[in-house]
Amino acid sequence: MTSSKYSTDSKTQYLADQIAALQEQGLYNRIRTIDSPMDGHVVINDKQVLNFCANNYLGLANHPRLKDAAKKAIDQYGIGPGAVRTIAGTMSLHDTLEQRLAEFKKAEAVVTLQSGFTANLATIPVLVGKGDVIFSDRLNHASIIDGCRLSRAKIVAYDHNSPSDLRAKIEATTEYNNRLIITDGVFSMDGDIAPLPELYEVANEHDIMLMVDDAHGEGVLGNSGRGIVDHFGLHGKVDVEIGTMSKAFGVMGGIVAGKQVIIDWIKQRGRPFLFSSAMTVPDVAACLEAVDMLENSDDLVKKLWSNAELFKTEMQKLGFDTGHTETPIVPVMLGEAPLAQAFSKQLFEEGVFAMAIGFPTVPQGTARIRVMNSAAHSQSDLEEALAAFEKVGKALGVI
Ligand SMILES: *Cc1c(COP(=O)(O)O)cnc(C)c1O
Repeated sequence: MTSSKYSTDSKTQYLADQIAALQEQGLYNRIRTIDSPMDGHVVINDKQVLNFCANNYLGLANHPRLKDAAKKAIDQYGIGPGAVRTIAGTMSLHDTLEQRLAEFKKAEAVVTLQSGFTANLATIPVLVGKGDVIFSDRLNHASIIDGCRLSRAKIVAYDHNSPSDLRAKIEATTEYNNRLIITDGVFSMDGDIAPLPELYEVANEHDIMLMVDDAHGEGVLGNSGRGIVDHFGLHGKVDVEIGTMSKAFGVMGGIVAGKQVIIDWIKQRGRPFLFSSAMTVPDVAACLEAVDMLENSDDLVKKLWSNAELFKTEMQKLGFDTGHTETPIVPVMLGEAPLAQAFSKQLFEEGVFAMAIGFPTVPQGTARIRVMNSAAHSQSDLEEALAAFEKVGKALGVI
């Protein structure tokens, strides 16, 4: 089982053994190298392929308006923020982005972090701690789980998207100081949406704080991409909403939107805010441009949804199982991990880059190809992808 690639010694041999085990199970991550901008097509190994892997929902990652905004900002403000904001001060650019995001999302206030991941780590541990309790959807994202663990609050998992199980778990948990309910907005492996109005009802009934992580809903759900809170009209009812600018916004950066008191407290106690530097200048400028674009037009959001609708409908007609998605994320359910890997490999040979996802990212026996639709795709791109799925699906006996 030893992998000869590593110059291991007795101290690190166990790591090489674990890597070899992953390779044997077909679960070892192989990362493709992209030699082009992230867009509807990408270049891999000198070959142009259709890209269905990125969370670049609106095609903004290589958009000329965002690139221009970033270049101009570099000329005016340079590149980096220099230090954490509490020590070196904050650039007006960051303040402007936060004000604009708060208006866009109709939230009392916003603070930005380096990423969606750190936004969760900054937020959850300042809301709850030892002696408190968190009710967390079983399928919540890893960054929520890590934020919960860091808080040292008791974590009670409730059944996926089940307000009734949440209610039962709340009623069965009697020892606590403060309480918090946390859910993903859009679940990234299945594309289903949290029943936020019902979760709010339960939260309100028991007077519990409600937090949603809308990483995959930002720029996708709601009026012109304002997110899940806007989608359900729950402004002012959800206490805190996490977002990311690394998906639909095409850039990088985390958002915490919510009550002013929560945002102010994060700026006092949130560790990734206090001990890690702010977003870089070009990131902030590009995100500001993305907000501008979304405020002025919902064309890209509409294109994303019509592309996703077309892809889903045609895949179902071909006989594929696309799970229970309600968003532009389309899981193509295949079952065992080796089948999903073979499927992905053959798709690539047909010019389509779409990732196989297996355990532990999804439960055993539910391996799939996850197709990320994007406004960057044209109608003919979609037709080409569907033809490739049909060919590979037949060759592998899936349809
Ligand atoms: C992608 C994702 C994140 C992480 O966002 P980054 O900005 O890439 O760090 C956090 N939460 C959820 C639910 C996500 O899907």
